[in-house]
Parts: sequence; C-alpha cells; structure tokens
Amino acid sequence: AQERYASLRNLPAQARCGTVIALHMNAGLMADLPSLEGSGAEGVGLFRTELQFLLRTKVPRREELAALYARVMDAAHGRRVVFRTLDIGSDKVLPYMKPQDEPNPAMGWRAIRVGLEKPGVLRMQLQALIRAAAGRPLSVMFPFVAQMEEYTAARDHLMHTLDQEARMGRVLPEKVEVGAMLETPSLAFAPRSFFERCDFVSIGGNDLKQFFFAADRENERVRRRYDTLNASFLTFLGQIVDRCAETATPLTFCGEDAGRPVEAIALAAMGLRSLSMRPASIGPVKHLIRRVDLTEARAVIDAAIARGDMSTRPALMQWLVTQQQ
Ligand code: PEP
Ligand code: MG
Repeated sequence: AQERYASLRNLPAQARCGTVIALHMNAGLMADLPSLEGSGAEGVGLFRTELQFLLRTKVPRREELAALYARVMDAAHGRRVVFRTLDIGSDKVLPYMKPQDEPNPAMGWRAIRVGLEKPGVLRMQLQALIRAAAGRPLSVMFPFVAQMEEYTAARDHLMHTLDQEARMGRVLPEKVEVGAMLETPSLAFAPRSFFERCDFVSIGGNDLKQFFFAADRENERVRRRYDTLNASFLTFLGQIVDRCAETATPLTFCGEDAGRPVEAIALAAMGLRSLSMRPASIGPVKHLIRRVDLTEARAVIDAAIARGDMSTRPALMQWLVTQQQ
C-alpha cells in the first residue's frame, strides 16, 4: 500500500469531476518536516507551536524560538508553513504557568484568550516568527477565535509588532498572511467584515465538532455521540463554505477528520478545497479523492439530508463501494 501511495506523490488530488483538492500536512516538531517531501504535501497547513513551550521548564527564549521557526521554514524549502500561535491554557498546563482551577477547561481560559489578556508571550512569539521569516513570506493563524473582536485585537498585536521590528531596522517578512481558526460555532456567524479581514480561515474540526455537538472530544463516554458525517454538521460546514465564498476568503480544514478518507471526501463534497492532515494520511486521502466524482458525492449527501438521515455515512459508504471497481 505504501508503494501505491508513493506513486501518487507527484500527482494532484484531482477528483474525477476535475476538482483539485490541495493537501497540506500538520506538524509540530522540526522532526516532522522531512515528511513534507515524502508525503507530497503542498505545505504545512498547521504548525502547532505548543510543544516547544510544553517541553520546557520556563518560557522559551525569543531567539531560541526564532531559530527554530527559521529552521522549520528552511526545511519547507519555500513551501508555505502556517504557524499557529500558542494554543495553551487550562488542560495543557505549562509547568511555569499558574494552574487555573476551571470547571470546563476546554471552554475556559485558553489559546487566544490567554494571548490577549497576557500579551507578553504572544508578542514574544510574534516577534520570533517575524525574525524567523526575515525576507520570506510569513503565515500566522490565531487559535480558538470565537468573536471577530478577538481576531482584530490579535491581528493588531501582529501589526504593532511588525512596526516595532521595522523601527528597529530589522528585515521584515516579504509578506504577511493572517488568519483565524474557526473552532467555535459563534465565529461562523461573525459579521461579513470578519471574513473580509481574514487572509484565510482554517476550520479546527476537532474543537468545532465538540462545541457544535456539546460533546467533549476527550470524554470517551460522549465522544461517540457525534459523527463528522452527521447531516447537521455537514449542513453547518456547507454554510461556512458559503460564508467564505461570499468574501472569497480561502478556507482550509485542519482537524483530524481531514486525514480520514471517507470524511475527507465528504468535506471536499461540501466545498472544502484545502485539507491539512497528518503526513501519513495524505496518500490514502489522495488515493480516494482520485477515484470519485465529488459532484456525485455531494448528490449522495444532499439526498441523505433531504431524506432526514441522521448520518450521511451509510449512504456515502454504500455509494463508495460502487466506486471502488
Ligand atoms: C482542531 O481543533 O481541529 C485543531 C486542529 O486544533 P487542536 O487539535 O490542536 O485543538
Ligand atoms: Mg483546536
């Protein structure tokens, strides 16, 4: 099977209907970068920056982070790397952070909420990213944005840091792209101006699903209560696709579901044109995309929804079996 996927490495994820889906990889360590070549990913759609903070006994130094981010960009050989700022707090407690006693950590003081209320670390990280890029393009995305104002405030920190660096005479990135992760249903209903201000939006499906269904992604007892192929969830994803299309805002999906072939087909059928996943999933996902017609997949999903099926999974699976010949 690995060989079959290797032969697909340089081929596009082009479905039978002609639609091409861009496949990117998720990463979080320098050691992940060599997979960029082997997997055939177009770039890194999500670089999680938590690990460098979790593996330390104190806040990493700015120069240390800048050097690491620069090495990540070097290893990407000009391919796009989307750096997500620190998504930490509550459950992912840093050893050097005062533990917060919160009843619902996943809905508590985490990610961009921490970054905006205690901007020291966010600013330091943004500075490290700007210095690492020096003359190269930089892509930054903010995690767990629930309101437009949070995105605007985070973006202002980035712009302010860029000004500061310019005044210090530093080489700035060639260009800067800024985006938000859509991980809470509220953000899907943000004003149009939010989508206009984003250079891109990336759906964090793992979190989005748990908040859409009010079912904890870490709690096995309730985690099974939801299905990515659930009719309501796919309908919701279709609405997010439409909102981004209104403002021509590029949209990616970077949760674990992007790496599951059947789910990836459903995401593409709902209009997603860019998926980011574990490197090992790129081959299997590409293989299946190349075998199907996404317009047909969409028709199967629409029919299941119209019938009132709770999940589109049985219908999709049944249809997929006929596509394997
Ligand atoms: C997500 O929520 O889908 C996501 C990509 O972020 P994480 O899994 O790191 O929360
Ligand atoms: Mg998330």
